Amino acid sequence: MDCLFCKIAAGEIPSKKIYEDETVYAFYDIQPAAPVHFLVIPKAHVMDSCAQADESGAQIVGHIFQVIAQLARQLGLEEGGYRVVTNCGENAGQTVRHIHFHVLGGGPLGTMA
Ligand code: AMP
Ligand code: ZN
Repeated sequence: MDCLFCKIAAGEIPSKKIYEDETVYAFYDIQPAAPVHFLVIPKAHVMDSCAQADESGAQIVGHIFQVIAQLARQLGLEEGGYRVVTNCGENAGQTVRHIHFHVLGGGPLGTMA
């Protein structure tokens, strides 16, 4: 499968890595939409988007949220607060069809679009 985020998780395409474990990879977004903007993805292509979430996907999504909390703390986002976004499909503007969670913070984010 020709998937950008599979290649990033495998180290075939360079990225600014923040964190990695057996199942999850986190890296800075190449086009930041906030002072701090990173992405957290499952290494395996378990879902194209949250539209495919099911019982088996629930575990990895739960783990991703634990990783997000840990990284937000490490990067100093916890006190001021931050936003977690996952775009799902065309209307949401999803461009990469490998489920990913945006984490945005480091300053006021404004209201949701
Ligand atoms: P989405 O619009 O939700 O599908 O988000 C895809 C995100 O991936 C966008 O915010 C892009 O800026 C980001 N992106 C695309 N290519 C790369 C890359 N090579 N490294 C880091 N982030 C990327
Ligand atoms: Zn993929």
